[in-house]
Amino acid sequence: MSRRCRYCQQVFQFSRYRPQQFVCSRSDCQRQRRREYHRLKLRTDSEYHQVCRDSQEKWRKQNPDYPRQYRQSHPESVERDRQGQRRRDRKRHLQNLVKNNLAFDLKHSAAEVWLLGPEAEHLAKNNLAFSQVLILPTLTPSPAAGVAS
Ligand SMILES: [Zn+2]
Repeated sequence: MSRRCRYCQQVFQFSRYRPQQFVCSRSDCQRQRRREYHRLKLRTDSEYHQVCRDSQEKWRKQNPDYPRQYRQSHPESVERDRQGQRRRDRKRHLQNLVKNNLAFDLKHSAAEVWLLGPEAEHLAKNNLAFSQVLILPTLTPSPAAGVAS
């Protein structure tokens, strides 16, 4: 008996004793199956959620040096975090501007700046390098702000 794997789409044989098997035995596919099961359980089973949280906490207590060691051996991840934090800070700053009645100015510049097509990047680099290009899909009703630099 055979069917296609839900993840890799390869045909695989499944046992008649396990008619519920929709994932092949490749380790990537099995890992993905476990990950999805884990995520679903976390959402739907509060006891499971609590057990996972407790075991994470226990692990962290037993490995207090891990975060520092990880940062040392993965400098690129530190840099990524730093950039993500910078982006979030900028976004929060923008949202504060919107909240504090400077929305009018932001709206104005959004209407003034139109960058489209393959020339946009070139333009942004050469003429607008001193400023940031703000893309604000909508200012009302919720102040959602996207930032591109
Ligand atoms: Zn597969």
